[in-house]
Amino acid sequence: MNTDSRAVRVRFAPSPTGMLHVGGARTAIYNWAFARAQGGTFILRIEDTDPERSTEENTQIILRAMRWLGLDWDEGPETGGEYGPYFQTQRMDTYQEALEKLIAEGKAYPCFCTKEELDAKRQAAGESYAGYDRSCRAIDPEEAQRRIDAGEAHTWRLKVPEDHPDIEFDDAVYGHVSFPAAVMDDMVLARSDGSPTYNFAVVCDDANMGITHVIRGDDHLSNTPRQILVYEALGYPVPTFAHLSMILGADGKKLSKRHGATSVEEYERQGYLSDCMVNFLALLGWSLDGETTIIDRETLCREFSLDRVTKKDAVFDTQKLDWMNGQYIQAMGSTSFVEAARPWLDEVGAGDSDIDLERAYPLVAERLERLDQVGEKLAYLFWGPNVQFDEKSVAKVLQKEGARADEALKSLREVLADEGMPWECDPLQEACRALAEPLDMKVKNLFQPLRVAVCGNMVSPPLFESIELMERSDVLARIDAALAIACG
Ligand code: GLU
Repeated sequence: MNTDSRAVRVRFAPSPTGMLHVGGARTAIYNWAFARAQGGTFILRIEDTDPERSTEENTQIILRAMRWLGLDWDEGPETGGEYGPYFQTQRMDTYQEALEKLIAEGKAYPCFCTKEELDAKRQAAGESYAGYDRSCRAIDPEEAQRRIDAGEAHTWRLKVPEDHPDIEFDDAVYGHVSFPAAVMDDMVLARSDGSPTYNFAVVCDDANMGITHVIRGDDHLSNTPRQILVYEALGYPVPTFAHLSMILGADGKKLSKRHGATSVEEYERQGYLSDCMVNFLALLGWSLDGETTIIDRETLCREFSLDRVTKKDAVFDTQKLDWMNGQYIQAMGSTSFVEAARPWLDEVGAGDSDIDLERAYPLVAERLERLDQVGEKLAYLFWGPNVQFDEKSVAKVLQKEGARADEALKSLREVLADEGMPWECDPLQEACRALAEPLDMKVKNLFQPLRVAVCGNMVSPPLFESIELMERSDVLARIDAALAIACG
């Protein structure tokens, strides 16, 4: 879909006003993947013109989220690049220069209307309000200059050519789009304090940075005709636009806080893997072939194309995300698992234990949807000799009348206490299983009390695989604790 003969240059241009939301993250992923697939350049530009909300801290939040997602930028903050600076607040001279060019060419004019006057015009026009009435366009240039020299407050507006045809463009996602020129008022380029408006600054930046494709949320679709007018006025080539549809929650409403986590950071905190997030978000509007769901970064970066991006709204399906994250956890391998799950494992005491965490991975690899579930699942491994019993399990298994939990545990204890027995899953399990016949118990009834004794709960990861990771003395101490409360 690249009709531009220039080398592909795309940008992600967040306004640092808080967390990086999933919608923004998806935009970033598409830009990144498109640049990679096209052998182009991915630029990160910080649109920090809102002085109250654009703080250094908020910028760092965005950079951190981008790094966590693994979206490396070729040019931008900290990386630098030939087209910098990459913060809008540091590019003010370029907007001024562009404005002066437009003024000199008679393509921009000062507007002295006050906010009150504009509000009154808007009110008077009511429903039929179609933007600025262009009244200041009629002011004689010499008089306008006199008023400016006298210090009268003014903005600068774009002088949209009177006979401008409808503004049309081929959006790479939306297809052919047309906006009637008649509804384009003379938009403000620079406010009375000299600061550029978004629509002006963004065009100056995209043009000066050689951006070939503008891939962004469709909340900007209605800004595009205005921006095209600015490109035309400045004599710059108009890039290809690709507007991305909205992300909806499962209820069909625009994704918001009500649906749960909306920022990348929150997903990270809940134990979603960055590879999974990139895969999942990439599929919110793009597909490889309409069916493949697990798509790694390399494939995404090789195969991503704008012509497979749909304009249909995407639905954020948390269940699918959970499933996908589980798949990624299963596939990640023990070393990455331990590294990624470390914070949650440490919360339940893994840091003070000698247990080989890489060997604990197979116990839970297929049982997790999120890494933040790992603490609860594996805590028992780190209790040492002190088992923490789940009350329900005690009542249902250890103290169940006629189940002979005490008998089972005594015999199992003897087997496990035998120093001659290798402390390994299979031989231990076999030796314990052999007790079923002489005790005349079902294997399940024999093992359930041991599970509660060792793991504290009748539901746990595989029992003998767990025992093998623990100290023999700890296992025996836990059986003793269970025996003290078990009934016949
Ligand atoms: N700073 C704008 C935003 O965060 C980006 C606009 C654009 O991509 O053109 O919505």
